[in-house]
Amino acid sequence: EPDFGAGGEPYTLRGVRTVRRGVFGNLPPARGQGAKFLLYFEDAKKAVEELEITLTSRDGGSERIPMCGVPYHSAHTYVERLIDKGYKVAICEQVENPAAAKGVVKREVVRVITPGTIIEDDMLVDQENNFLLTLTGTEDHVALAAVDLSTGECYITELTGSLELIMGEISSYQPKEIVLDETLATISVLKERLEIRLKCLITPYSIDAKSERELEEELPDQFPQYKEACNTPYLQRVVCLLFSYLKQTQKRALHHIQRLNRYDARQYMILDETARKNLELWSTLGEGKKRGSLLWLLDQTATAMGSRMLKKWLDKPLLTINEIRRRQNMVQAFLDDFLMLDEVRDMMKQVYDLERLAARISYGSANGRDLNSVSRSLSIIPRLKKRLAETNCKPLRQLAEEMDECGDLQSLIAEAITDEPPISVKEGGIIREGYNPELDKLRSIQKDGKSWIAELEQKEREQTGIKSLKIRYNRVFGYYIEVTKSNLHLVPEQRYHRKQTLANSERFITPELKEREQLILNASEKSVELEYELFTRVREKIAGQVHRLQALSERVAELDVLHAFALVAKRYHYVRPEVHNGNHLRIKAGRHPVVEAVTGTGEFVANDVELDSENSQVLLITGPNMAGKSTYMRQIALITILGQIGSFVPADEAEIAIVDRIFTRIGAADDLIGGRSTFMVEMAETRHALKEATGRSLILLDEVGRGTSTHDGMALAQAIVEYIHDHIGAKTLFSTHYHELTELEKRLPRLVNVHAQCIERNGKVVFLHRIVPGGTDRSYGIHVAELAGIPAKVIERAKQLLSELDQARSQDKSNSSSALSGQLSLFGDLPVDEAAPDSGQAVSETIPAVEKEVLDALRKWD
Ligand code: ADP
Repeated sequence: EPDFGAGGEPYTLRGVRTVRRGVFGNLPPARGQGAKFLLYFEDAKKAVEELEITLTSRDGGSERIPMCGVPYHSAHTYVERLIDKGYKVAICEQVENPAAAKGVVKREVVRVITPGTIIEDDMLVDQENNFLLTLTGTEDHVALAAVDLSTGECYITELTGSLELIMGEISSYQPKEIVLDETLATISVLKERLEIRLKCLITPYSIDAKSERELEEELPDQFPQYKEACNTPYLQRVVCLLFSYLKQTQKRALHHIQRLNRYDARQYMILDETARKNLELWSTLGEGKKRGSLLWLLDQTATAMGSRMLKKWLDKPLLTINEIRRRQNMVQAFLDDFLMLDEVRDMMKQVYDLERLAARISYGSANGRDLNSVSRSLSIIPRLKKRLAETNCKPLRQLAEEMDECGDLQSLIAEAITDEPPISVKEGGIIREGYNPELDKLRSIQKDGKSWIAELEQKEREQTGIKSLKIRYNRVFGYYIEVTKSNLHLVPEQRYHRKQTLANSERFITPELKEREQLILNASEKSVELEYELFTRVREKIAGQVHRLQALSERVAELDVLHAFALVAKRYHYVRPEVHNGNHLRIKAGRHPVVEAVTGTGEFVANDVELDSENSQVLLITGPNMAGKSTYMRQIALITILGQIGSFVPADEAEIAIVDRIFTRIGAADDLIGGRSTFMVEMAETRHALKEATGRSLILLDEVGRGTSTHDGMALAQAIVEYIHDHIGAKTLFSTHYHELTELEKRLPRLVNVHAQCIERNGKVVFLHRIVPGGTDRSYGIHVAELAGIPAKVIERAKQLLSELDQARSQDKSNSSSALSGQLSLFGDLPVDEAAPDSGQAVSETIPAVEKEVLDALRKWD
């Protein structure tokens, strides 16, 4: 039973107690037959429920002990189901040879499998990383260490700032498990957020000062860069926590974790959870599926490594122009040479997941087939390099040069491993003829033995005169002579010893046969043992070079993503954007990459945009619902992101000013799980943008204020626009259905009105999806309602009411000053029913109420 430190109830998840008592123990595998993992007591009962297997029991002296078992060979499917259900599974194996053991065979927990420490191929999604996160620190100062055991990657960082920033970084890993330092586990806000937002296993964990000191001494041996990378107390602690947890669960050295990659989140464009969600970067807003997201569109990669790398690039768009241009140059090279694009793709499709194979080799769980996959992948690399060397694109040639062919490893595998080794590494059939003379000798003894038996069969037939006499083999008796009933009278009773009687035949053995059998079986047993030994030696040799395979995987993955960018650019006619450090964002005929791909070519209406800090910092977008406002806003953000990850963009021309962060407030989705009302979510997200945005940020605010009454909403919307305009200077796209706000253009020099154009044809509204200069004064709400199928009577009545309101409003307007000088005149501009004397009271009542709600909620959520 592994010790999980002082972490409270580490085995408990969702109130269920998992495996506790040396749960999985295997019976001595009698030549692999019938071996099982057994579970006892409470674990057995739990497993029976969860795995739908049969409960049995065995004698335990005064009581019967409940138990159940799963076959050794298919245990992984059961383990997978338990992990899926949120359990941790301790694997307990015999650690001494049963034949040599005195008394009870010694057993030990050899590994604890948890959701974040899976390395098994069939339990992982190829295109996704499987991260385990460790966190320590305080509420607004967190150190994070993320490790993927299945690839060997490890990233560490320290974050200071708002909960959104911290949550954004944590969630970008989509962790499968979080190990939370106990000190942090007591901070309810972060823990609560993690529990609500990330549906993953959270384990409170702690280490004492002594273990931490010991680890601090050990870690620099494994990571030469340890001292430099972990130069703060929090980083030191988080890395110690991580490796302490790994040590306790994995119980072996993890040499494939070669590097601690220290980074600073502010080195990259920051995308928080809301922005990623609203912009549908990895999954769609509606169904939460990958299909329909930007990642889905871009993922034309040929390898799983490329797919995972793409996701990482999308999480962390670049801020450095040179690096962006380097990527662009390589994409361009593929677009200049379509033949190379196709050839490289074909070659890369033959490369297996080298990164995960390397990790399994180092972990000691790779089999013969895995080694062959490595060898086959490596055999592609020289050709790939040769092809890339032909291009005149320097960074691409350089990338190719940096690829280590690992020819020595490739030939080692090719010489040692048979073409089709079995899945098991303990049953022989893995090592090639001619690789090891001793093995060859043992094999020839077996082979000779078999021909000796064939000869014996012939001899016995002749001696006894039984033509149908056969010498057979089974696992229980070994070799035996089989004689049918009708020939029994011919059996030489003196020499033959009866072993078994069947319905139609009897089975005999002879001392001569048994003697030979022993020789054959000895040779066979020895050769299986030797094969296993030779195999592990090959595997260890490669494990010693795992860093080379990892470095190669990284280069292949990068190449793969770049080639995918080229493929997408080619298919959808993207252009290379001019990415710069200036202030000017200009997109000519920009399109929404995903909407365009889904609606089909020719259907999507392209739109321009120009934003800069001098003349057009804030774009106020008006127009009816369904006219294309939010699509337009999103496409500008997506084009910026595409530009900063080095991809080409869906436009005719684009100049992109580097953006440090994107904020979004889009859509009216209630945060039901989080327990926040629509308005509350809206305000929290807006506040976040107002607090954190800089002059280099991009803010998308869609219909802010619609979650509350018209007065409140419009007042807030205007105040927010003014604040961004005057105090932040961030490029802002602000859509609103309060067309009264278009008046602001006269007062705010850097605010520009545009609207989504619609026309009325035969009394019906037609959306042109075209964004044109100027404001609009109509919202066509009734038309949209009509399109949505609201009954004709309701529509007619609404039209009648609207025309009455319009009349009253124009009268009201002529009575008051039309200049918009502030909030009050804005209210004066409202339709009469809302500006009527009795509603004045309503306003003064609602505003404090809203304020209270905002304040309460901020207290709760910040
Ligand atoms: P709004 O935000 O104004 O309510 P949306 O941006 O949600 O409108 O767009 C409504 C629908 O119109 C979307 O489902 C989208 O498919 C379509 N659409 C939006 N913009 C365009 C465009 N430029 N070309 C073609 N179809 C578009």
